[in-house]
Amino acid sequence: MAHIFAVANQKGGVGKTTTTVNLAAALGQQGQRTLLVDLDPQGNATMGSGVDKRKLTQSVYQVLLETADVAGARHVTEHGYHVLPANRELAGAEVELVDQDHRETRLKDALAKVGNEYDFVLIDCPPSLSMLTLNGLCAAHGVIIPMQCEYFALEGLTDLVNTIKKVHANLNKDLKIIGLLRVMFDPRATLSLQVSAQLEQHFGDKVFKAIIPRNIRLAEAPSYGQPGVTFDKASKGAQAYLQFAAEMIERVKAY
Ligand code: ATP
Ligand code: MG
Repeated sequence: MAHIFAVANQKGGVGKTTTTVNLAAALGQQGQRTLLVDLDPQGNATMGSGVDKRKLTQSVYQVLLETADVAGARHVTEHGYHVLPANRELAGAEVELVDQDHRETRLKDALAKVGNEYDFVLIDCPPSLSMLTLNGLCAAHGVIIPMQCEYFALEGLTDLVNTIKKVHANLNKDLKIIGLLRVMFDPRATLSLQVSAQLEQHFGDKVFKAIIPRNIRLAEAPSYGQPGVTFDKASKGAQAYLQFAAEMIERVKAY
């Protein structure tokens, strides 16, 4: 059965999609069968994987509404992993699911059918604690939280941790925080180092050892429809994500 992880943080622009796409590619390069689920109507993980969100006939939207299954809607990317894509249509799911049965577990139920085809399933969540994110959290065994080491990052974390606790208590007993990933890290900034030290103090070994630096190659890669890990494997950002993937592979051995 696949290890299913949601990459979540309700704060916008903190590096969720960059982390999901690059971790998927890095796991693929390390021989892990990986599915990326784009659960964001922005479709950034879809485009960043080289799949054109404007040309989808089926996507995660139909999967949530149960008019398509994962096997029919997924794409094989050129970067060593599969993607269940998304586009703007997905924004409608929020409303359309409101009066439907088992609406929080639609993604979980759909993934159960392909679970033994993968080692890892990574879910890129949107920047909100919405019904979409709830589907991601219900489907997952764990949450990966990317965060920038800045002052307000810690404030937002409380809401996310409380949401994860609630989902754990009411909907998904398997759910736990796998770890906090420091991203867009600038080792020259005193604040980065301070917040980073605070995180380690507070969350201990829940803080991943791998640290993702701020690296322009990671930001350039999506416009070529590629993960940074394949766009420029030698770059510092790519190397950090490869290290992170190795750490994830080690961690799941403990479960
Ligand atoms: P949203 O909340 O809108 O979904 P997000 O949390 O998925 O955003 P990303 O889209 O991954 O965040 O990143 C936000 C911006 O920061 C993007 O332009 C991305 O290219 C850039 N970025 C992410 N990580 C890095 C990094 N390590 N170095 C440099 N730029 C980065
Ligand atoms: Mg995103």
